[in-house]
Amino acid sequence: MKASAAGYARAENLRHAIEMLVASEGEGRVLAGGQSLVAAMNMRLSAGDLLVDISRLNELSGVSQEGDTVRIGALTRHAQVGADPIVRARVPLLAAAVAHIAHAAIRNRGTIGGALAHADPAAEFPACALALGAEIHVEGPEGDRSIPAEDFFEDVFTTALEEDEILTALSVPAAETGEVQLIEEVARRSGDYALAGLCLVRRAKGHRVALFSVGPKPILATGAMTALDAGDVDGAVAALTSEIDPPSDTQASAAYRRHLAGVLLRRAVARLEGDRT
Ligand SMILES: Cc1cc2nc3c(=O)[nH]c(=O)nc-3n(C[C@H](O)[C@H](O)[C@H](O)COP(=O)(O)OP(=O)(O)OC[C@H]3O[C@@H](n4cnc5c(N)ncnc54)[C@H](O)[C@@H]3O)c2cc1C
Repeated sequence: MKASAAGYARAENLRHAIEMLVASEGEGRVLAGGQSLVAAMNMRLSAGDLLVDISRLNELSGVSQEGDTVRIGALTRHAQVGADPIVRARVPLLAAAVAHIAHAAIRNRGTIGGALAHADPAAEFPACALALGAEIHVEGPEGDRSIPAEDFFEDVFTTALEEDEILTALSVPAAETGEVQLIEEVARRSGDYALAGLCLVRRAKGHRVALFSVGPKPILATGAMTALDAGDVDGAVAALTSEIDPPSDTQASAAYRRHLAGVLLRRAVARLEGDRT
């Protein structure tokens, strides 16, 4: 099947892109790397009268560090995120996540902003953003605003973005000395979406645990975080498995996903303690 005919316009700058979205009255679709949007259009799961192509807005691409904050432009491609020296040194969770995302061709085109805006519950970057306590920056006709990751992901493929807003960047705290950031997932084959996945961050002020592919959106496992802060790993696993409500589908049952979540937490804690690499 092929996509239905749609209009296409290449944005000259961010303001131009927003103006086109406003003018399209809800029928515009932002086109970034196209790795999810074009596939969805080909399957007629997404339609729009106007594709607003932002892929050449270089001002939305790249990584910078200001003080203790790392800012990653929305159009930074997955492969660039994985290779960037600032990301590798100060946000190693994002660099590690890239290795789990699809295949090289998709990582060379897909953008981190696209992955966050698409909000696939099985995707790695949204859960990373939650675990890191990221701020997501968006711009629309009324100006810009920043949304904590905890408020950004609302439901399956649904975020706090308004239809005429563009995600411009995310910012995350740079890892402090001694901070550990880990990602664990189980997928049927390398590059497949995870059956279940978990991000764990240990900072001086406590643990942060976020899960993906175990519900309609990435989940911050606050009960597990509190138990880990108290050094209670069994309690953390018990809390974690009770605070998720995974789906059953053709890939895995809900019970299996819940079991995997606990296994992934134990694996991550073992790595924290240096028992596993
Ligand atoms: C075969 C296959 C396997 C994949 N496997 C994985 C995987 O294992 N893990 C994973 O995480 N992902 C996976 N993906 C998805 C991939 O990571 C996509 O690149 C990513 O989800 C979307 O990024 P994009 O830049 O291509 O966005 P697009 O496809 O261009 O856009 C996706 C959606 O986000 C919106 N959007 C994009 N950018 C912005 C913006 N800046 N502001 C507002 N809205 C925006 C679009 O309008 C659209 O609705 C896979 C994709 C394919 C095709």
